Amino acid sequence: MISAILRAVFGTKHERDVKRMQPAVAQINALEPEMQGLDDGGLAAKTDELRKRVADGEELDDLLPEAFAVCREAARRRVGMRHFDVQLIGGMVLHEGTIAEMATGEGKTLVATLPAYLNALSGKGVHIVTVNDYLAKRDAQWMGPIYQALGLTVGVIQHEASFQYDPAYVTPDVRMTALRPIGRREAYAADITYGTNNEFGFDYLRDNMRFSLDELVQRELNYAIVDEVDSILIDEARTPLIISGPAEESTELYFKIDRIIPKLKRAATIVEGKLSEIEEQKAGDFIVDEKAKTVSLTEAGIVSCERLLGIDNLYDPQHIDSLHHIQQGLRAHSLFRKDVDYMVKDGEVIIVDEFTGRLMPGRRWSDGLHQAVEAKEGVRIERENQTLATITFQNYFRMYGKLAGMTGTAETEAEEFAKIYKLDVTVVPTNRSLIRLNNPDVVYKTEREKFNAVVDDIRERNDKGQPILVGTVSIEKSERLSALLKKRGIRHEVLNAKYHEREAEIVAQAGREGSVTIATNMAGRGTDILLGGNPDFLSKEILRKKGLDPATAAPEARTVAVEEARRITEPEHQRVVERGGLHIVGTERHESRRVDNQLRGRSGRQGDPGSSRFYLSLEDDLLRIFGSQRIQSIMDRLGMEEGEPIEHKLVTRAIGTAQKRVETHNFEIRKHLLEYDDVMNKQREIIYGMRRQILDGASQADTVAEWIEDIVGGTLDGYAPEEAHAEEWDLPALGEALHRQFDLRIPPARYEDVVSRDGLRELVTDAVKARYAGRERELGTELLRALERHEMLIVLDTQWKDHLLSIDHLKEGIGLRGYGQRDPLTEYKKEAFDLFQDMVERVKGAVVERLFKVQIVRDAPMELPAMTAWARTQEMRGEVPGERPGGSPPLSIAVSRPAPAPRTPTGVKIGRNDPCYCGSGKKYKKCHYLQQG
Ligand code: ADP
Ligand code: MG
Repeated sequence: MISAILRAVFGTKHERDVKRMQPAVAQINALEPEMQGLDDGGLAAKTDELRKRVADGEELDDLLPEAFAVCREAARRRVGMRHFDVQLIGGMVLHEGTIAEMATGEGKTLVATLPAYLNALSGKGVHIVTVNDYLAKRDAQWMGPIYQALGLTVGVIQHEASFQYDPAYVTPDVRMTALRPIGRREAYAADITYGTNNEFGFDYLRDNMRFSLDELVQRELNYAIVDEVDSILIDEARTPLIISGPAEESTELYFKIDRIIPKLKRAATIVEGKLSEIEEQKAGDFIVDEKAKTVSLTEAGIVSCERLLGIDNLYDPQHIDSLHHIQQGLRAHSLFRKDVDYMVKDGEVIIVDEFTGRLMPGRRWSDGLHQAVEAKEGVRIERENQTLATITFQNYFRMYGKLAGMTGTAETEAEEFAKIYKLDVTVVPTNRSLIRLNNPDVVYKTEREKFNAVVDDIRERNDKGQPILVGTVSIEKSERLSALLKKRGIRHEVLNAKYHEREAEIVAQAGREGSVTIATNMAGRGTDILLGGNPDFLSKEILRKKGLDPATAAPEARTVAVEEARRITEPEHQRVVERGGLHIVGTERHESRRVDNQLRGRSGRQGDPGSSRFYLSLEDDLLRIFGSQRIQSIMDRLGMEEGEPIEHKLVTRAIGTAQKRVETHNFEIRKHLLEYDDVMNKQREIIYGMRRQILDGASQADTVAEWIEDIVGGTLDGYAPEEAHAEEWDLPALGEALHRQFDLRIPPARYEDVVSRDGLRELVTDAVKARYAGRERELGTELLRALERHEMLIVLDTQWKDHLLSIDHLKEGIGLRGYGQRDPLTEYKKEAFDLFQDMVERVKGAVVERLFKVQIVRDAPMELPAMTAWARTQEMRGEVPGERPGGSPPLSIAVSRPAPAPRTPTGVKIGRNDPCYCGSGKKYKKCHYLQQG
């Protein structure tokens, strides 16, 4: 109440923000006549002038009005669009490093040109981030003429290709118009670079796996404008980027485990954190938690597995792999559904993106889950991969000096943007007022009744010729609805992963008279739905009908086709407007309100008429898992007849509450992932920072000298501890150790005069230093410095890779442990720190040892790890191994495994890859490490 009054008096924060920007808008408008008076050359010269002023120390903020005015004029001349005033405001919001919420169709692509131009003046580069390659290319081609007129270079990063926008470049393929292939490094050197979040992130990781400076492609991360920012920074933030390479492990075990999975019985399913009473059975082997997407074995389940596999203790270290495989196998069988979560195509399991419904070929679930699904489907199993480099989007994007974003739907997630990315959201008013009519939800008892009602609604509107866009939550649901429509003879298009290539074209025509389009999730599709159809896209169809390939047709033929298309779309536009514009049908509420809004937002763009309605049923996942009891009781109270929907405030509110709970839950998962990644992030920064220094060619002599002293100290501690008497020193063993470590032999006679520990240290240190000085004389200073960098790089990479594997296992271990009183995150942090310390020690030891021992054949180039190794790496988006999403509480029957602690019984620290202290000859991590308490 109070806040409503305050709002009325002072306006909302967004209104105040917008108001604050009005003077600048007026300034930009006032500059317009001057800009219009310039000829093209004069306009282009403005860039040089502004650049010079930036170089001379003027603030970008002070140049904003002028730069925006210049950019607007170039847009008007070159692409026929003059930025609306609200678009200028959007541009200012982006320049401030904030998220601009601007509805679909408000022209965000054009908005981005303003801050991109202004910020590019500093020459440090601007990245415009899109959700897919198609949009990166499209936006660069579309906006390219503006930048080109102003003398800025534009790069485009695609998966496995990069380009520069260059209108002089001739290619027969119009899809590639004006895109000249160039190197990736050049694409990044451009003033403005368009690309996807994945490519930017993977390039960052790849750069940190390179062996020389001139192989690096990215510059320092200066400023990023992220389009569809909620898709990228929220939806996609659940899965980190991972570059992996094959690990040496057989795939046999997956099949073996897969054969026993169907023999295990489900004991219960957890719904809303409680055991669902309906499904609970006394005897059973495993429990499925639908919400947390985890499966755990019961005591009985462990016994069953042991029996089925013919082993006596599943928790024995040698069977720990089987245990892990069983867990993934159970998940594969009970949580991952074919044609919903993945599809099988040409003998491959292809992930279906949970949010966009698109196929993600080449992506793999990590940590053995993908293999488990492959085993389940009986297709060939790809070999398990090992992480070589990984980062979350959160940590990647936080590295930019300035970050901004734009989307139609950000406000519901404002808290997350603020907390994780320190990004504020400003809602920019629409250019024309929104007149879409959002009808209240209707809820049916069963899904069948719901779909029937959906089909009736479609039928009725379709008969009148009104275009309809139907949103579903999965490919499966799309196909089900499609079958129903077919039965009723309603022509329609289904947009889903399978039609990926034609997707943009279908969306573009979703506003045509009588068109019915079914889509699984509309997030980030980027193509505008014009009422009456999109003439550009339609012209392609016309060309095809004439037997011409739109990609290669002559320009004249294309112009003719566009004109022909216009003659169709213009009157059609009028008719569609009269019929009420685009109608949106939602067939289920999504897990977050934001995704619902993305679907709705497709209608009513730029003041168009439009309407929306969501159809729900009590059998929908959202209602079933997250809010059924409450809603069910409301329904029971109100009484429901077959086929009769309910449209009640209480229900709508209950659904809203359920959605908010899911949103919070998903936020928790992402925060959880980030908390884990933050630990790694610090370590990654240290290692990558060191790598970069080495690549930069900085001398590592001081570091090496320090390490040598550390190692001498450590060696002395082992054989001649501080507190020991000279008689207790184990000089022969020390001699051997020095030989091993430093390739050094000190004549025994020289020890005779030494009586104190300090004396001993001096003797050894001097000898080691002299030996190293000898190396320097032998090899020459320059070569030794190069050798130092070379060895450090190789050892760092090997040990870091190994460390990543240990971290993966650690996470898994933490996930398996009973939570008890311990906070798994604290445990994880502590152990990850220890592991890192161990790694650093191993790096020092290995580098020093190699520096003393490596034999160099003069004139032969130093071998770096072969780049061919790259051919076997792959990039993917994974889930984090062993994570229990949301830190959901463990089941009482979850079996706790002893906590690993990297110490021998006597308290001596031991590396996980060192031979086990028990003398088994196995690596410690495969032996007693697992049994420690
Ligand atoms: P969004 O990404 O915000 O949904 P788009 O960038 O795809 O919107 O643009 C939507 C449509 O609006 C495009 O067809 C574009 O040509 C048009 N448009 C955007 N800005 C302007 C403008 N200032 N003047 C005319 N048309 C514009
Ligand atoms: Mg867009």
